[in-house]
Amino acid sequence: MIEVHRLWKQFGRLEALQGLSFAVPEGSAFALIGANGAGKTTTIKVLMNILEPSRGHTRVLGVDSRRLTPQELSQIGYVSENQDMPARLTVAEYLDYLRPFYPEWDRRLEGEMRRQLRLPPERRLSDLSHGMRMKMCLVCALAYRPRLLVLDEPFSGLDPLVREEFMEELLKQAGGTTILISSHELSEIDGVATHVAFLDEGRLLFEESMAELSGRFRAVRVTLDSLASGDGRSERLPESWLNVQARGSVVSFVETRFSEPELGERVREALGPVRAIDAEPMGLRAIFITLAKWKREGAAGESRGALAQSV
Ligand code: ATP
Repeated sequence: MIEVHRLWKQFGRLEALQGLSFAVPEGSAFALIGANGAGKTTTIKVLMNILEPSRGHTRVLGVDSRRLTPQELSQIGYVSENQDMPARLTVAEYLDYLRPFYPEWDRRLEGEMRRQLRLPPERRLSDLSHGMRMKMCLVCALAYRPRLLVLDEPFSGLDPLVREEFMEELLKQAGGTTILISSHELSEIDGVATHVAFLDEGRLLFEESMAELSGRFRAVRVTLDSLASGDGRSERLPESWLNVQARGSVVSFVETRFSEPELGERVREALGPVRAIDAEPMGLRAIFITLAKWKREGAAGESRGALAQSV
């Protein structure tokens, strides 16, 4: 549904995107995550032909995004927090205005979503609260049953209840639609996303299915036979361990290449005799925080060095 090939975007001297490549498979719910300024919105704007790539190219529904025609656009729903809407029109007037542009517009679905999300038809768009505006964007983007739905930070600024309503309606009505979503609300998209791409300063840190990602990350807690000591053991810590910390006889870390049989072996090799090993699965939010901290610290070496420093 979406292909991104060696995409670069420059703003003056700033290289906001640096050679991004990834693909969004049909039927997936693909989450684009990354810290502020990582390049998520810029990527989405290139895909929606709001920005031109500096180098490389992107294809949406099989068409170069610089050449998207009304035919493809009528199969793409786009929701972003900064979307322009004609302020003077009411909710009902704006829906009347949009309908003829979309051959597949489903009036029954429009009415159902408008009522479910409690959007007053006579209210002017300029008078809608931020949460109501986002709900309105969702109605406008889903009423024509798009093949592809692109959501740029849809939850930003929404209170928890509105977020919940928005998500519920999205899941109810978007069955079968391919979704690309950028968001910082990782607990909201955990359990919904089937794929995730992690952007870091304009580069792709990784892209994989949620199943693979949650399969390989574990929060590990090891109880050693004796007090942890830093006598050169940090040298032997595996590359795949992040945020290693030691307190008394307990060493904790995040294993990024978890495999049940290998973990015990790896732990004993690196830390010596152990009393217990506990490995807990991690949610997307915890995985993101681990990776973001690791990136901020600059190198895996620093993280591994923490074992020696903390004892
Ligand atoms: P956030 O999570 O904060 O929304 P983001 O991942 O969506 O961030 P972008 O908005 O894509 O990040 O911005 C990526 C980088 O490009 C940032 O450093 C930003 O300042 C810069 N940038 C974005 N748009 C422009 C622009 N029009 N002119 C100059 N720089 C820009």
